[in-house]
Amino acid sequence: MSDLTDLGVRQCLDALERGELSSRELTLAFLERSQRLEPAVHAFITPTPELALQMADAADQRRQAWKREASPSQPLPGLLGLPLAIKDVLALKGVRCTCGSRILENFVPPYTGTAVQRLLDAGVVVTGKTNMDEFAMGSSTENSGYGPTHNPWDLTRVPGGSSGGSAAAVAGRMVPAALGSDTGGSVRQPASFCGVTGIKPTYGRVSRYGLVAFGSSLDTVGVLAHSAEDAALIFTHLAGYDLRDATTLDVPVPSITFDKANLVGLAGLRVGVPEEYFITGIQPEVEAGIRQAIEVLRGLGAEIKPVHLPHTAEALPVYYLIAPAEASANLARYDGVRYGLREPADSVQEIFFNSRGKGFGAEVKRRIMLGTYALSAGYYDAYYGQAQKVRTLIKDDFEQAFQAVDVIAAPVAPSTAFKLGEHGDDPLAMYLEDVFTLPANLAGVPGLAFPVGFDLHGLPIGMQLMGAHFHEDLLFRVGHAYQQVTAWHQRTPALG
Ligand code: GLN
Repeated sequence: MSDLTDLGVRQCLDALERGELSSRELTLAFLERSQRLEPAVHAFITPTPELALQMADAADQRRQAWKREASPSQPLPGLLGLPLAIKDVLALKGVRCTCGSRILENFVPPYTGTAVQRLLDAGVVVTGKTNMDEFAMGSSTENSGYGPTHNPWDLTRVPGGSSGGSAAAVAGRMVPAALGSDTGGSVRQPASFCGVTGIKPTYGRVSRYGLVAFGSSLDTVGVLAHSAEDAALIFTHLAGYDLRDATTLDVPVPSITFDKANLVGLAGLRVGVPEEYFITGIQPEVEAGIRQAIEVLRGLGAEIKPVHLPHTAEALPVYYLIAPAEASANLARYDGVRYGLREPADSVQEIFFNSRGKGFGAEVKRRIMLGTYALSAGYYDAYYGQAQKVRTLIKDDFEQAFQAVDVIAAPVAPSTAFKLGEHGDDPLAMYLEDVFTLPANLAGVPGLAFPVGFDLHGLPIGMQLMGAHFHEDLLFRVGHAYQQVTAWHQRTPALG
C-alpha cells in the first residue's frame, strides 16, 4: 500500500479517473503514512482523518453515479477525490484554524475561505491543517505555538517556513499537494528546503478571503506539490476574480496543459540572471546548483541574459518595515473580546493586555512593536512612507527587467535547510534567509520554486523562476520543461 503515497497529483487523478483506485483507498494510504510519520515530522496541527474519509466516500459515490449516467450533462469536478492538506492560516468551516498561534487555539471558523472553497468545489479531500510559524511570521516553522516541524530530509533541520508543515507533508509523501501562503517567501523557501515545487502567484490572482491576514498588500495563497505540472493543476482551480476580495483582478486564468506540444523545448525564451542574487555569503553549492540549472535551460534552447535588479538589497529593510506595519494593524483584532483566547481580568484594558500577552509568541510581539513604531506619529514618513517609495523602485526594477527577458532565474534562499535552533536567539539572521524571496512579494510578481540539486549533506537546493504579473503559465511551462529532462523533483527522503 505504501507506494501509493509516491503518486503525485496528476498520477492520483489519472488512477482515480481510470477506476484503478478509489478515493477512499488513496486517502487511507496517505492518512496511514501521515499517522506513522507524524511523531517524527509533525507536519500537521490538526489532522482531519474522519472528515477526509467522509469526503473520499462522497467523491467515490459521485464518480460512480456519474459513470452510471448514460450521457452525463456535466463533467466531473477536476480534482475529484484528491487528498490535499491546507496550511492552518486558511479558513475551513467547522475545523479549527489556529494560524500556529495559541491565541486562536480554539477558534473554529464559521465560514470557508474562497481558495479552499474552490478546491472543495473541485472535489478535493482535506486530510488536515498544517503546521506553520505563528501568523506566518518566520522562515523555519520554529515560531509555531504547537512545536516545530522537522525536515523530512534530515529531522534535525528545519523545513523552512512559514508553510513548513505543508512543505514537509508533501516532501514526506504524507499528501500529494498542500496549500500554503507566501507573504515574503513562505511557499518558495520551504519548497526549496524540502525539495518540492511551490508556486507563489501574482498578488491579486488568488482570493485572500478566508486567508488570515498578515501583510495585506503582500499576502498570497500558493500551492506546494511534487512538480510544476502538479502545482499548475491545483493553481488553475484556485485562481480568478472574487467578489469578496477587492484586490483580485478579473484577468482570465489560462488553461495550462502539459501535452506533448509543451515538450518541444524553450527556444525563443529569454531567461534573465540577476547578478544581485549571487552575493557573497551564498552557500557555494547553492550557487553551483543554480548555475547548472540555468545551463539546463540553455540546453533546452533558452537564451540566457544578464539582468539587473539594482534595488534587491533594499528589499529586506523595506519588507521588514511594511510587513510588520501591516501586521500590527491586522493583529489588533485579537483583543480577547472578539476572537480566540480570553484571559481573566478586572478591566477591559486588562483583558487586552492579558489575552495578547499570553496568546502571542515572541516573534509576533516583536513584529507588532516594530510595526507600531514604524507607523507612529513623527516616524511614519521616515519609516513607513520611505519604505513605500523604495518598494516602488523595486517594482520598477522588475518591470524594466521584464522588458528584456521573459523569466528571471535565481536562488530561492542563500543556503539549504539549517539546523533547528540555529537562529534561535538571532531574529536578524532569520530575516536574512528571506533576501531572495521578498522582492517578488514587494513587486507582486509570481515565483515558482523547484529543486535543482542536492548539497553535500543531501539537502535539496531550490531555484526560483520569477515572471511578469499574471505570467504563472509561463513559469509552469519552463518548470515543467526542466522537470522533463531532470529527476531532482522525483527524489524522496528516506523516512521509512
Ligand atoms: N519569512 C518572512 C517573514 O517572516 C516571510 C513569511 C511569509 O511569507 N509569510 O515575514
